[in-house]
Amino acid sequence: RPGVGGNGGIAPVGGINPHTNRPYSSKYHDILAKRRNLPVYEFLDDLLAKVKKNQVVVVEGETGSGKTTQIPQFLVDAGYTRDGYCVACTQPRRVAAMSIAKRVSEEMDVTMGEEVGYTIRFEDCSGPKTVLKFLTDGMLLREAMFDPMLKKYKVIVLDEAHERTLATDVLMGLLKDVLQRRPDMKMVVMSATLDAEKFQKYFGDAPLLRVPGRMFKVEVFYTPEPERDYVQAAIRTALQIHLCEEPGDILVFLTGEEEIEDACRKIRDESANYTSTHGELAVYPLYSSLPPTQQQKIFSEAPGPQAPGAPPGRKVVVSTNIAETSLTIDGIVYVVDPGFSKQKIYNPRVRVESLLVSPISRASAQQRSGRAGRTRPGKCFRLYTEKSFQKDLQEQTYPEILRSQMSNVVLTLLKLGVEDLVHFDFMDPPAPETLARALEELNYLGAISDEGLITQAAKMVLSAPDFGCSNEILTIVSMLSVPQVFMRPKEAAKRADEAKAQFAHVDGDHLTLLNAYHAYKQHGGSKDWCWDNFINVRSMGSAENVRTQLERMLTRMEVPLLSPDFNAPDYYTRIKKALTAGGYMQVAHLQKTGQYLTVKDHQIVSIHPSSVLDMKPPWVLYADFVLTSKNYIRTVTAVGETKNELEACAKRLYQL
Ligand code: ADP
Ligand code: MG
Repeated sequence: RPGVGGNGGIAPVGGINPHTNRPYSSKYHDILAKRRNLPVYEFLDDLLAKVKKNQVVVVEGETGSGKTTQIPQFLVDAGYTRDGYCVACTQPRRVAAMSIAKRVSEEMDVTMGEEVGYTIRFEDCSGPKTVLKFLTDGMLLREAMFDPMLKKYKVIVLDEAHERTLATDVLMGLLKDVLQRRPDMKMVVMSATLDAEKFQKYFGDAPLLRVPGRMFKVEVFYTPEPERDYVQAAIRTALQIHLCEEPGDILVFLTGEEEIEDACRKIRDESANYTSTHGELAVYPLYSSLPPTQQQKIFSEAPGPQAPGAPPGRKVVVSTNIAETSLTIDGIVYVVDPGFSKQKIYNPRVRVESLLVSPISRASAQQRSGRAGRTRPGKCFRLYTEKSFQKDLQEQTYPEILRSQMSNVVLTLLKLGVEDLVHFDFMDPPAPETLARALEELNYLGAISDEGLITQAAKMVLSAPDFGCSNEILTIVSMLSVPQVFMRPKEAAKRADEAKAQFAHVDGDHLTLLNAYHAYKQHGGSKDWCWDNFINVRSMGSAENVRTQLERMLTRMEVPLLSPDFNAPDYYTRIKKALTAGGYMQVAHLQKTGQYLTVKDHQIVSIHPSSVLDMKPPWVLYADFVLTSKNYIRTVTAVGETKNELEACAKRLYQL
């Protein structure tokens, strides 16, 4: 076979695995034989030549042709991970990142988490030996926040680019810039559908490698009348296939966990009645929150005949969109497509984003039917009318960026140092009004200043996960964003001070605000409690509101929301460290005179009398600078005992 002779990196039979220095296992050789049959294999030499000559290469290939599992491996074997570098391959979906990492570690005959790993939100299964890492596009974006030049990576493979997720779109814009500054870096953009030209143009006429799939004919059937209940219709169709069609596995597309579990149960129950006459039907669900061991089951072989001479069984996988292009299940001959998926919809009027079950696009329908023709001719049952396919379905799914609230994207970009958002090179730029609204919202939340710059508060929040206390910092930042929380009416000053003293923390005001918020929540946000404790109930309401919105934004940015153990001795230390990491520029140092000198602009200041601090720590962090007859710093907390400690924090900050 052409290409295979070139042996571009695939080790000879019986050799020693260069990654582990152990002989290859027999499983390795079994899988290798299968790998050599994948269409992409013939293009190995061509791909490597193109990557060598160009910084960006676009690869377009039918789903199942071997792009995702093979191309990143080719790059590793071709030497791109020499000198401690890594190859990254992004996936829009967590399940795909995990599942593919597992498959590829088997193919390379290494332990998952060592040479081959994955990183998804809340889970990093990679290590110092990792040369090939699969990660969600959102995670790579997050890594870019802390390492803007993505120094670890020699090659970045952006997979499933045709999906045009928000994170992939932002990554494309960023990487375009990084590639210019890092001439040694390479990028491979992989797409399943026919939009390759758009990617080529965007990346300065990058060359295209087209991998033809081996597709068999798929016969498409429509329903004569619209279906009233697509879940019921899907269940019925799957059962009918089992009863009436030739052997071959079934793939049913539904939209989410509940629907899928429900359908699986019904199909299982109903098909049990026919096991003796029509063979066993093994039913597997597939959706993102399914535990990994369950996810892997979709790849198991269909059950055999119950007895010699009895009909063979078959497998049915009931899946979300994951199976549309991200994961290929061999042996599928029948596809049931109700025509829906869960999609993000943004309503700019009420500024709410939601996941709604919505009709898919014609391009998606085409992809879905293609899943039936991978191993032999197949059939696709579309549970909608042909007229509806022609008239109602959109040609393409809109890129997510045009359906999203932009505040998290804007904050991400600001954090990455991109200040000129209007001229950021988006493949499909969002409407200027959408950007303006995002800036407005971020400003309201205190994440950006009136000048459009990222604030100390936002920096604090974004670096807080490193100290394991993003929840606490979120609270403090929200409390800082609202007007005076502690009330001190002249006529009841003493009682007000006593009330405040209950929340006081020896180290200062930021931690005192945190304590007050905790107490407020413990009392269920009670108005009476606020009143009794001289706490401004309106301010607390606003702080809660800001907190909720910030939390939502962080979740979208995949920033982990963490809390240290409240009883751990370093609970408050961690919080103080996170505060310092974000707020280094607002630090003051105690002078011999008993006053403080601000680090940023060398002002002589005193601690505001409202502070709970009753000693004078050598270093303090402050939230506001108040100029009256005297210069005051207000909302003050003691931080790092030594300058070294502070400088270490600052270094961290600038590395970010
Ligand atoms: P593409 O990215 O071009 O869509 P993939 O590289 O994902 O193609 O898939 C190539 C082949 O690898 C497919 O035939 C698929 O079935 C197989 N494959 C992928 N993951 C697994 C797995 N976990 N178990 C068995 N086969 C797998
Ligand atoms: Mg793929």
